[in-house]
Amino acid sequence: MTVLDSFSLQGKVAVVTGASRGIGRALAQALGEAGAAVAVTARTLEAAEKAADELQASGITALPIELEVTDPAQADRMVELVSEGLGPIDVLVNNAGISIGREALDTPVELWREVLATNLDGVWHCSKAVGAQMAARGGGSIVNIGSMSAMIVNRPRWQPAYLASKAAVHQLTKALAAEWAPHGIRVNALAPGYILTEASPVDQPEYREWCVEPAAMKRYGLPEELGPAVVFLAGQASSFMTGSVVVIDGGFTLF
Ligand code: NDP
Repeated sequence: MTVLDSFSLQGKVAVVTGASRGIGRALAQALGEAGAAVAVTARTLEAAEKAADELQASGITALPIELEVTDPAQADRMVELVSEGLGPIDVLVNNAGISIGREALDTPVELWREVLATNLDGVWHCSKAVGAQMAARGGGSIVNIGSMSAMIVNRPRWQPAYLASKAAVHQLTKALAAEWAPHGIRVNALAPGYILTEASPVDQPEYREWCVEPAAMKRYGLPEELGPAVVFLAGQASSFMTGSVVVIDGGFTLF
């Protein structure tokens, strides 16, 4: 196998949660371009179908799936639907997430729970559902989308629930990597810095001082700049890697 062959995902089945837009959409594209058949999930079937149609138009085998990641029953159902539609799952990318910012004293319990339920419980439910199938088949690769917010405190908008959720995702990555290595399942995380998406409009002037200038590269990232790393983590190219957190932040966390 040549080094470039080790990046090929030909014949693999991948699931990307929250793939209707932003980072998840770009990661689905990258996995598909590397050869995987990709199940794309969103909370509504319409949103998932739109993404799947776009992927299919660029020659990628794509299956739309409706999935609310906070519901463990829907995570189990997702595994059934993907297995029926594309085959058993080789790669799971836990990307679905929300970043609703409120300062601590102004954070109602409902908001705290919504952020943790989506960003942390969602990763847990999908990992358990897919992990059970991967363990039964003897292997797979899980990539969790964490954040540099697991390591730094974003300014000037306080968002303690988000920061806590992402730090927990990084540690859950390590916990599952350790526990599931004997099953042949590798679990790694990507920790992006500021990436331009609907949820993160960092091209707006008010973000320049806090989100762009402090990065060594003095710019924000684009969703497609995370694609090559997820392809690397998904397949044979990263065969000796598990429990790692790969930071892609244009040098934001250097200082
Ligand atoms: P977007 O808001 O653009 O996209 C979020 C995606 O998650 C959508 O596809 C949305 O689907 C889905 N989603 C949200 N809540 C749920 C839910 N409860 N169940 C199922 N799907 C859900 O966000 P980004 O692309 O910016 O972020 C993607 C991930 O990357 C998140 O985990 C985020 O924390 C992380 N991240 C983002 C950074 C950035 O700067 N953008 C930096 C670091 C990490 P739909 O609404 O269609 O159902």
